[in-house]
Amino acid sequence: MLRGQFTPPDVFTRVGGSLRGYRTRSEVADYWRMNTDVMTNQSTGPGSLLTNVPGRARPQKQVLALFEEEVAELRRRYKPEFWPIFIPKAEDMYRWRVQLQCGCTREVFTYGSDRFPDENSDTDPLTGYRFPVGELRCSADHGPAQKNYRDIVEWIKSEVKEFPADPEEPKYGMSAEDWAMTRQVEPHSSAFWTVKLSCGHVSTSVITKVGWKPDDGPRLVSEQRAAQMRADFKEWWSAGGQEGWPEEGPERDHVRKMIGLNWPRPEPEQECRACSYAKRITGYQRIGWLVSRTPPVPAQKPDVDRKKVEARLAAAEAEVERLRKQLDEGE
Ligand SMILES: [Zn+2]
Ligand SMILES: [Zn+2]
Repeated sequence: MLRGQFTPPDVFTRVGGSLRGYRTRSEVADYWRMNTDVMTNQSTGPGSLLTNVPGRARPQKQVLALFEEEVAELRRRYKPEFWPIFIPKAEDMYRWRVQLQCGCTREVFTYGSDRFPDENSDTDPLTGYRFPVGELRCSADHGPAQKNYRDIVEWIKSEVKEFPADPEEPKYGMSAEDWAMTRQVEPHSSAFWTVKLSCGHVSTSVITKVGWKPDDGPRLVSEQRAAQMRADFKEWWSAGGQEGWPEEGPERDHVRKMIGLNWPRPEPEQECRACSYAKRITGYQRIGWLVSRTPPVPAQKPDVDRKKVEARLAAAEAEVERLRKQLDEGE
C-alpha cells in the first residue's frame, strides 16, 4: 500500500555517503508531504529518457557491499516499526547508470525493473527534504557556483530559536566600533522558517521576528528610506568598484531588487543553495538486478536407501511374475 505512493529513502538513488534520518512523527509527515508535492512535477513520461550512458557499470560485488552498508545504516537510523517502509531488500533492487544535466554519470537503484530513475530524487543533505522528482545530487566540483535567488512560494513551518546575549568582546573579526553597533546586549530569539522555493527546493534558513505570520506580509521601509538606501548603495558601489559588497552579479542584483521593493522583511526571495548541486537526470541505461534473480535450484532429493528400494522392486517384480503366471494358467 505504502510503496506505490511513497518515494523511498536515498539508498534507492545513491550508494555511499551519509544518510539523514527522519526521527520524529512530524519529520516523517513533512517527508510525505514534500514527496507527494514533488511527484506532480514530473514532466516526461516513464522511460522516456532511456539512452546509452557513457562509461561502464561498477563491479556487482562492490555495489552490493555498499548497498549492505547503507541498509545497516538505515537500521541504525530508523525505529524498527519503520523498517518495513524504509529498509529495501537487495533482491528488489534494480541497477541503472544515469547521466545528469551537468554531464556527470552515476549509478542508482530503482525498486524493481519497471520503475525509472527519474521517478525518484535525492534528499538534500542541507535540509533533509527531498529534491523535486528527477533530480539527484552531484557532488563533483563544477567550479564556483553562482548564487541563485528564488521566490518563496510556500511557508511550511517555523521554529523559534533562543540566543544568549552577545559577549562584550568583538566577534567575527569586527572592530570594537562596529561590534558596539551590532551587538545584541540582551538574550534574544528569532523564528527560523522552512520554506518551499519556486525551483521546488526547500530552504530552512529564512529568519523572521518571533510571532510573524505569512499573512502579515513583509515589513517595508518608507519610500524616502528606500531612496536613501539606493543612494547609499550607489555611492558605496561606485567607491568600492567591483570590490564593493556585494560584488556585481546575482547578489548585487538581489540588493537592487530588494531596494526597489522597499526593503521587505522577510524578503520574498531567498538564495537557493540546492540549485547549485541538485541536477536533473537527462538519461539512463539499464544495468540489471543487484542480485541474481534466477529461480532457485530445487533442493536435492534426500539420499534413498538403495537396499530397501531394491527389495521393494524385487517384491514388485515377483508379484508381476506371479500375476503373469496366473494369467498364463488361466488360458
Ligand atoms: Zn556534476
Ligand atoms: Zn533551488
